[in-house]
Amino acid sequence: MALVWGQDDSTVPKDRVSAETIDLTANEPDEGVGNESTLLSKTRQLTFEGRRAGEGYFSADGLRMVFQSERDAANPFYQIYVTDLETGDIEQVSPGHGKTTCAWIHPTGNRVLFASTQDDPEASNKQKAEIELRESGKQRRYAWDYDNQYELYAKELSDGTFRRLTHAEGYDAEGSYSPDGNLIAFASNRNAFTRQLSEREKELFEIDPASMIDIFVMNADGSNVRQLTDVVGYDGGPFFSPDGTRICWRRFAENGATAEVYSMDINGGDVKRLTNIGAMSWAPYYHPSGDYLIFTTNKHGFGNFELYLVRADGKEEPVRVTDTDGFDGLPVFLPDGKRLSWTSTRTASKQSQIFMADWDDAAARQLLNLDLNITDEDKSAALAAAESSDPGFLPTDSMRHVDFLARPDLGGRLTGTAGEKRATAYVAAYLESLGFEPAGENGTFFHSFDFPAGSTLTNANQMTVSGSKLELNKDWQPLAFSKEGETDQTGIVFAGYGMQIPASDGTPEYDSYVHLAVGGQWVMVLRDMPQDITAEQRQKMARYSSPRRKASIARDLGAKGIIFVTGPTSKVKNQLIRFDQAASQASVSISAVSITNAVAEEIFRAAEQDLAKSQKQLDDGSLHLGFPLQNAKASATVGIERKRGEGRNVVARMNAGKQPNNVAPVLILGAHIDHLGTGGGGGSLAKDDERGQVHVGADDNASGVAAMLEIAQYLAAEKKAGRLKSKRDLLVAAWSGEELGLFGSQAFADDFYQLYPDAPRPPKTDEKSVDAVAHAHGTTTDATPLTTAIAAYMNLDMVGRLREKLVIQGIGSSPGFASEVQRRNLPVGLELTLDKTSTRLPTDASAFVSRDVPILSAFTGAHEDYHTPRDTPDKLNYEGVADIARLFALIGRGFLTGSEAPEFKLEEGEAQKDAPRARLTAYLGTIPDYVAGDVKGLKLSGVAADGPAAKAGVRGGDIIVQLAGRKIEDIYDYTYAIEALKIGEEVRIVVQRGAKTVTMKVTPSSRD
Ligand SMILES: [Zn+2]
Repeated sequence: MALVWGQDDSTVPKDRVSAETIDLTANEPDEGVGNESTLLSKTRQLTFEGRRAGEGYFSADGLRMVFQSERDAANPFYQIYVTDLETGDIEQVSPGHGKTTCAWIHPTGNRVLFASTQDDPEASNKQKAEIELRESGKQRRYAWDYDNQYELYAKELSDGTFRRLTHAEGYDAEGSYSPDGNLIAFASNRNAFTRQLSEREKELFEIDPASMIDIFVMNADGSNVRQLTDVVGYDGGPFFSPDGTRICWRRFAENGATAEVYSMDINGGDVKRLTNIGAMSWAPYYHPSGDYLIFTTNKHGFGNFELYLVRADGKEEPVRVTDTDGFDGLPVFLPDGKRLSWTSTRTASKQSQIFMADWDDAAARQLLNLDLNITDEDKSAALAAAESSDPGFLPTDSMRHVDFLARPDLGGRLTGTAGEKRATAYVAAYLESLGFEPAGENGTFFHSFDFPAGSTLTNANQMTVSGSKLELNKDWQPLAFSKEGETDQTGIVFAGYGMQIPASDGTPEYDSYVHLAVGGQWVMVLRDMPQDITAEQRQKMARYSSPRRKASIARDLGAKGIIFVTGPTSKVKNQLIRFDQAASQASVSISAVSITNAVAEEIFRAAEQDLAKSQKQLDDGSLHLGFPLQNAKASATVGIERKRGEGRNVVARMNAGKQPNNVAPVLILGAHIDHLGTGGGGGSLAKDDERGQVHVGADDNASGVAAMLEIAQYLAAEKKAGRLKSKRDLLVAAWSGEELGLFGSQAFADDFYQLYPDAPRPPKTDEKSVDAVAHAHGTTTDATPLTTAIAAYMNLDMVGRLREKLVIQGIGSSPGFASEVQRRNLPVGLELTLDKTSTRLPTDASAFVSRDVPILSAFTGAHEDYHTPRDTPDKLNYEGVADIARLFALIGRGFLTGSEAPEFKLEEGEAQKDAPRARLTAYLGTIPDYVAGDVKGLKLSGVAADGPAAKAGVRGGDIIVQLAGRKIEDIYDYTYAIEALKIGEEVRIVVQRGAKTVTMKVTPSSRD
């Protein structure tokens, strides 16, 4: 499109505000930056001929623009023109004499509304006077703009007739139609001529006739005029919200110097002030979604107007849009919501011109913390995928799903963000199109859940030891799981390493609290575990040495708080335990803090004790009694703000019959849809130069979602064709919150009976057995078994990088699974690794197996791109995705048609029994290759950048066969060996690299 309009003069086009009084030459330096490069793209200039032009408003179809321009030598005033944006044709709408302003195209496109003085008998004299005035170079009186003769007119474009809509004395202008075309909102100072003015009003009106302007609404034919605002000060520039229920406008202060943006309902009620900037903020205009508005403000300097956004609900601070030098104002969204038009002096000549740019609605929503509009675009992407994909298992079908989910503009699908909303909307739309029914909350496809969205320390934190105040972050720090609030001053008892380990296999009991009374006091304990013990001992102690575990013991013994100290012999990175902002742990009911060695030594000295000596004594693993630290008292106030976010799962149901089957347990098929965003929330393995990039998560786990959608499509088609004699319903679920800690699937399992009150319940629970089961799984006792309600759970997490083998985990959760999987694999022919591991898998299957539901989980293995921005769609094996989808579809089909649900019985094998449950304290930064198959040793798919293994020279592809003198045959040997490592102590690592055996030295570091 090439609209060529000429140069403008240096003033801004007169908007529905007295913009002419603004001195645009007084541009002050800009401070701060906007989001122009994020929100606007393809900025182009639509230049206009004529002396001045502006106020471009678009027709409902976006194909025409009405504007005002001074381009007639005989008439110095604005006239109204309509331009066809496709052809560039321009048609004059106003009659050519008198003044006109503020036009609007009727939604039908047949009529143009504008204000005009065309019936003023003095019109031609005024034109003449204006021409003379301009020639003389003098300034015209500002009041001239609010000519009492302005009336509103509608011109029929078909026959050229004008219809006068207002007849009141005074200024009637700034009209716009409601979206349905039935109403007109406008501004008028007619009251100044019809009613008795107060002295103050009179005074103001003398200075500025705009001070009496208020907002009115009337029917489109001019009937039924009602006044909506009635305050002193100029209320003007009203526009309807896209749904026609509200009007936005700007209200000037009495003195006319500042203005704020407001909205109200169309009867003048529910007035909301949307801005509180204290500058001149005006020209608000709704985005077609109705969710936010754009306006202009000079908060950055008197003549320096910038565009800003504000939410329609007025929540959150306005967000700055433009940051280019010069005036930016009079913004208008095009009806499609994807383009913005505004007036700017960002030209070489500094003349104001009309500009247009592409608008990024998704980015705007992110900046405004608004839910992403489930755009028709996302929905139609899903529908298009449904339409063009085949019920069979085509690699291209999976590719299409992955391509959508891994789009950078979904921002890495971080839980609780717009990208997550879009991804889940896509899945919901797709499943709906397959005939699935909503199985989320309130008849929707969505199930929302809370998750911890980070914690921060407030400024309430204080700690005092023996009368002296400690400095936060320097001398002391609370732990993220600490109780909040005050812990009164009380004594301190030293309890060594703070562990209680029961006796076993000939090893005597280890109890730091023997003969020690800690009730009502602080307990001070050393971090980690004794430093000089054997690897075997370390292994044993590892699972009792986490700060959280130590805190629970102190709590159970009646302590008021726990103080961690690293001690001089330990080699951890930081003496203070890092305050984990991403921590999701529930808090413990006592204060938990860490202090530096220096502070601890001070406390020991006052008690005539020696910290180093006490630690040394304990470091060989022998027990020494703890003791009260005489003369020491501590008090602390802990302030932690724990934020909560909201994420959402998608849950859809395919009924076995016509109605939900409330008797037979359901089959659930799931995959997590969330990923790491830009990696800021933790979990990212990005290299330094990749930080902050979008982690698109193609393998993790767009691949799993794609496979799941393929399976859903196949089963729906089979059912439709009458080939699926299903005995039970199928639930298909896309989980969110997985990367942050399996929150979505856990919440679903927790809410299961709430969501489906008619689901079969367990026969009367025996409290004791529930306890025992929960204990066996290391879960809490509130994890009600779901065995009677869920036949099996099938999971797909990272199935995009099939190399030699597909790993199927969970084989150990039901006795029949191994043979069932082999049987269904006959027609598919995948190479399989059947993994008995069922519990403690770092995936959504955990939520189910811990509730006694048999699980199967597909996985093609970790890799060097895992959790980095390099996990991109181009690296996936789509043939593999299709095959895996087919295998799981056949297994699922078997579960649906089988009359018996698989039996739940855990049998995870020998290795699993030894697999450590403790949090590993030592860190090497290796990424195991879970699909290496029958290799002896632990094959690595990669090493974390900058980790100890990388530094030692270990590489992806290496097979670790020995670590610290221990033989490594599998992942269990390996984790076991790591558990025995001492932080900071160099050990030998032996790897098989091709035909060579390479020995290297690696120094484990701490995780924190
Ligand atoms: Zn992941």
